[in-house]
Amino acid sequence: MKNISVQTDIPGPRSQQALLKQSQQESTAISYPKRLPISLAKGLGCYVEDLDGNVFIDFLSGAGSLPLGHSHPEVVAQVIEQAGTLCMGLDFPTLAKEQFTDAHLSMLPAAVRDTYRMHFCGPTGADAVEAAIKLAKAVTGGDEVISFRGGYHGCTNGALSLTGNRSMKKNVPGKMPGVHFFPYGSTSRSQASSVLNQAQVDAALLLESALEDVNSGLGNVAAIILELVQGEGGAYVADKAFVERVARVAKKYAIPLIIDEIQTGCGRTGTWYAFEQYGITPDIFVTSKGTSGIGLPSALMFYQKSLKNWPSGSHIGTFRGNQLAFVAGAKAIEVFKRDDVLGNVRERSQQIRSYLENLQRDFTLVGEIRGLGLMLGVEILSPRTGKVCELTASKIQQRALRLGLITELGGRDDTVLRVLPPLNVSAQSVGQALAVLEQVLAEHMHALDADEEAAQ
Ligand code: PMP
Repeated sequence: MKNISVQTDIPGPRSQQALLKQSQQESTAISYPKRLPISLAKGLGCYVEDLDGNVFIDFLSGAGSLPLGHSHPEVVAQVIEQAGTLCMGLDFPTLAKEQFTDAHLSMLPAAVRDTYRMHFCGPTGADAVEAAIKLAKAVTGGDEVISFRGGYHGCTNGALSLTGNRSMKKNVPGKMPGVHFFPYGSTSRSQASSVLNQAQVDAALLLESALEDVNSGLGNVAAIILELVQGEGGAYVADKAFVERVARVAKKYAIPLIIDEIQTGCGRTGTWYAFEQYGITPDIFVTSKGTSGIGLPSALMFYQKSLKNWPSGSHIGTFRGNQLAFVAGAKAIEVFKRDDVLGNVRERSQQIRSYLENLQRDFTLVGEIRGLGLMLGVEILSPRTGKVCELTASKIQQRALRLGLITELGGRDDTVLRVLPPLNVSAQSVGQALAVLEQVLAEHMHALDADEEAAQ
């Protein structure tokens, strides 16, 4: 399974049956198959095969949860061995957990390694966000939270309340009160959407002045929660000066700064955690997608040992002891170190960026290219208006799938094509995926030219 091969219409006949059955049996809220109508049979590395034998290159990577791709053989071998020994351990200490904990702590910068404790959360990112908010409230006695426009923190009630996406929230009355949204200070210079950037507004100044102003309407703030690269928000990278100022202000007002590394963490941005690139030490940070390397769930909150008032039982949950995820994560970190996967992230990131920049020169529908490491995104524009265009983005995604490339859309109105390959992806596989993308863009431009000619 090393080459793209799409031999049927998409969905192929067997996928079609599976999708039909799914639509009859499962919730009406299923999401990925609505846009990517395939049924998965197996995966290896950055390739997946559907039930009809079509092979795709997967640049969605389990929504970023497959840093080592699908079913990395060395990691899988550990999981199989562990499955016959112990699968579930609640939050008891076990050998698997100890190895996982040591491995994860070993990836923290040496200067701060001993200053953090790890809290094992329920198995999703959102649960770690809930834990972080709860801890910050317990520590400060505050009940309000500052979040940022474009941020995504999960789908549980508290995490959703902190999330910017208004359409996800509009039918959910009774959200967590006391959340204040401030503009996100990003490095973006794009004018193609309604997103403010750091050049248009000094976002950190707004936040600082609100905290200073006795009439700003803020109450007792328990936490500031921030993504350093907004993934779901559309691959917006936080500006360094913005982040430094937010961190400084948080410290000044003794408000715990929570960095959400659920998507940026475990190597995705080219360092193990994105905060290393910003020279800050979060009071709390959360991570989950990449912790096991191959998509087995575990979610972690790291918090400074100086934070108190977090007694036994403060944040529990049955599934905090997935031993299979633990052995997988420990092995994955061994592979990361041995194979210099972080170095690969930086090299492949460069490879993708320069290719996309060339495409940007050739195709007017390629807008801003953003992101860090292998958490990249491309704005898809309408060549007619120069504005981001949902319909064009959707057509590009659909056609890419039919030519064998799986990608996801994100950002406001799903107008950003997200590039999220496994972190150990080879130069050759990247080349294959980009060639597909180039073909799709070229076809789209030719179709537009033909439309225009016909209209004349
Ligand atoms: N925070 C961020 C930054 C995320 O990207 C996500 C998931 N996309 C979450 C939180 C929520 O994680 P989960 O879906 O595992 O609950």
